Amino acid sequence: MSFAASVLTLYPEMFPGALGLSLAGRALEAGTWSLEAIQIRDFATDRHRTVDDTPAGGGAGMVMRADVLAKAIDHASPPGDERPRLLMSPRGKPLTQARVRELAAGPGVVILCGRFEGVDQRVIDARGLEEVSVGDFILSGGEPAALVLLDAVVRLLPGVMGNAVSGEEESFENGLLEHPHYTRPQEFEGRPIPDVLISGNHKKIAEWRRAEAEELTRERRPDLLGAPPQPLVK
Ligand code: SAH
Repeated sequence: MSFAASVLTLYPEMFPGALGLSLAGRALEAGTWSLEAIQIRDFATDRHRTVDDTPAGGGAGMVMRADVLAKAIDHASPPGDERPRLLMSPRGKPLTQARVRELAAGPGVVILCGRFEGVDQRVIDARGLEEVSVGDFILSGGEPAALVLLDAVVRLLPGVMGNAVSGEEESFENGLLEHPHYTRPQEFEGRPIPDVLISGNHKKIAEWRRAEAEELTRERRPDLLGAPPQPLVK
């Protein structure tokens, strides 16, 4: 059974985009996953195919209409569709490797990409959309965020990654950032590969990698080790 992604967007041309190449592209061709990009504008009801309107209460920008979005969502995800419905949103829960794994284990996803100031709250509530963020910054639309999420999910689908082990040793999989990597040449601009890595002692190598991973995590992401979040630097 293949993983089915449906993306609701004003820019279907952005898909599969980068996901048509490399690992994800080959998996798409092989049918390991499928991707359907649906034009939200096709569900507008007026002559001008309007999908947005001015914000209630005033203010800058435009808001995507609940009625048009609901029709698009109901088309992509009819009753009985078990796939989670996501809304890419900077207000959402930050995406984690754990959530990516859960999604990859499921039947697929329906992803709504916002544009303008965002979407009418009532369609989020009425269709039970799960808001997902890809980081504390603002994109101009949900499409790049959807591509990021799908990239992370697709590489975990069975058969997509050549070496299945590499998926489990990665950053975040064990709550740590990954240790540094080295490859030939043995010396680069006067910098040798650390001795332990060419010692052939696999126990020592594993210990060294673990220690490096812990050190790096303490330095860069103490929050992963349970430390309180760092104060925001202005
Ligand atoms: N006015 C909104 C930002 C709108 S950006 C706010 O201040 O919260 C337009 C669209 O881009 C959003 O609706 C969302 O779909 C997408 N987007 C922007 N930043 C994002 C992020 N960090 N993660 C996921 N989606 C994002």
